[in-house]
Amino acid sequence: MAKNVDIARDLSLTAFLERELGVQAKRMGRHARFNYCPDCGNEGHQPNKLQIQIDDKHYFCHRCRDKGTVIDAAMKLWGMDFGEAVDRLAGNHSGDVKAKPVDMEKVKKEDTLRNQKIAEVLKRLKPIFADSADDFKCIQYLTKVRKLPLEVVREAQKRGMLAFMPSNVKNAESRIIKACGEQLLKDAGMWKEGAKRPSICYRPIVFILPGETSAEFRIIGEPKPGMLKSIRFGTNIPYPFVWRSKTPSTKVAVVEGAIDTLSMVALGTKSHIVGLPGCNNWDIEWFIKIKDKLHIEEYVLALDNDSSSETNPGQKGQERLVEAMNMANLKHSRKVLPENSDINEILKARSVA
Ligand SMILES: [Zn+2]
Repeated sequence: MAKNVDIARDLSLTAFLERELGVQAKRMGRHARFNYCPDCGNEGHQPNKLQIQIDDKHYFCHRCRDKGTVIDAAMKLWGMDFGEAVDRLAGNHSGDVKAKPVDMEKVKKEDTLRNQKIAEVLKRLKPIFADSADDFKCIQYLTKVRKLPLEVVREAQKRGMLAFMPSNVKNAESRIIKACGEQLLKDAGMWKEGAKRPSICYRPIVFILPGETSAEFRIIGEPKPGMLKSIRFGTNIPYPFVWRSKTPSTKVAVVEGAIDTLSMVALGTKSHIVGLPGCNNWDIEWFIKIKDKLHIEEYVLALDNDSSSETNPGQKGQERLVEAMNMANLKHSRKVLPENSDINEILKARSVA
């Protein structure tokens, strides 16, 4: 039995899912992705929702947040218990899903190199950011659609958290390529093989994370089907978005993303604000560091309430954050948002009234 467990654990999760689901995984960056999840199946029709981690041994579903190993996947897909699934995995057909060893050292080295390239791109985009600071469409979108007051937008630019590129794709393309060169953009992962132009050309609103080693590039308005509204580059994130209050405060409001951070400012919050790059994208170390640096006594969690989605990722993410904060002895409270809303929705509702 123990031996079977070892055999099963060693299998390639990607190859196993390809065989069981009868489809080929899609490669996105370093990860293999599937449209189907062992737990929530086809629900949500969210393309590429299942992510296989680089080790090819663990999966994570971006829809239902289920995660597990090849054994968990097999138990769910086959409706078997642990022992049965292990035996079947280790049985006759394990040969076709044997894992190729992953060289983690090599992966780490490549990641470091890519992060350096991303930081270099961000540096080279600076003159473009400076020239595009008044881009009409970017400002219109943030002020008219997102209802952020112009002075908050301007303050975010001044603080280096927000920048614009030309909203005209052709203009953006020529300036970006001239500033960075084709090779650097490809090395940074911003220009995919076979793509007409770098993906960042379509995404002129740029939210820059502290340290300037990672940034989120966002389109204006809503994405066309199959298009990502924002793409974040860089895995080296020393801090999330941090908005320091101008007046002294011992509290930090925790929200999801850059737009909610600015919406919180617009709502007149007097506490500091932390914007997570995603509801499941955080590191408890960030909160420990921020607590010490800003002398924080309490975190007020206000992640999205996606109540129309049966899985409510914002609230699920918040639950996990609460657990981690308890373990780290960080004092926190929860602000419950109205059904189906985030901070920006609250701001928009207020602007109408
Ligand atoms: Zn799922």
